[in-house]
Amino acid sequence: CGIVGAVASTDIVSVLLQGLQRLEYRGYDSCGLALHLGAPVDGALPPGGGLWRARSTARVAELATQVQGKRGATGIAHTRWATHGAPTPANAHPHVSHGPGAPGAGRPPRVALVHNGIIENHDELRAELLARGYAFESQTDTEVIAHLIDSLYDGDLAEAVVRAAQRLHGAYAIAVLHHDEPQRLVGARAGSPLVLGIGATTEGAPAPLFVASDALALAGVAERFVFLAEGDVVDVQLGRWRILDARGALLDAQARPVRTLE
Ligand code: GLU
Repeated sequence: CGIVGAVASTDIVSVLLQGLQRLEYRGYDSCGLALHLGAPVDGALPPGGGLWRARSTARVAELATQVQGKRGATGIAHTRWATHGAPTPANAHPHVSHGPGAPGAGRPPRVALVHNGIIENHDELRAELLARGYAFESQTDTEVIAHLIDSLYDGDLAEAVVRAAQRLHGAYAIAVLHHDEPQRLVGARAGSPLVLGIGATTEGAPAPLFVASDALALAGVAERFVFLAEGDVVDVQLGRWRILDARGALLDAQARPVRTLE
């Protein structure tokens, strides 16, 4: 039950793992992370490209061994406390959507998503998405959100998340990546906490930007924070961010002030 995410121009893998470790005290049964390998790390593209995922039903330390040697500048990470579906590798987050069509048809994942909370109307949404040709790989309520966002995506991830959130009933904090937008992460919250963290600007590089379910997860990496309110959607791109309300309208800076924690 924790989320960490980052958009930067340098490697953020250790920030994600450390963030998860800082959230371990909340308890969890599995964990995982996704990187967008289409985002340059220190000016060079990592090998592979696209969305890459690792998951574990063991401790964060085990996940770290799976991730060893991987570098990424855009990523999301999660510790899970199962509510729907047993704590198995297939039910661990991130969940992905390959778009409609048969599973295993060799299509790369389009959407990767982590979620804290419960989606009450997951049965109704799953039936709708199955009818539209989406194949499900897990027993979670969460996976419907990944496919729902894929079905609503039209080149702008923030817009797709705003529209998807309007269909969700229940409590959630989410963080989402899309294959076509390597340097973008979109978060949303309703009933579960989510905070934006702003890192230090170093010369020549944009400030790294983070999201987390608790500011504590970003201790030492974020200098300033924006606490999202109910229904907010945070659109994080390399070196810039904006906050939208539940209808997708841009909020001005005063509405969600940047704070320094003492
Ligand atoms: N309901 C989701 C699941 O069971 C998320 C649980 C959580 O908050 O970690 O996978």
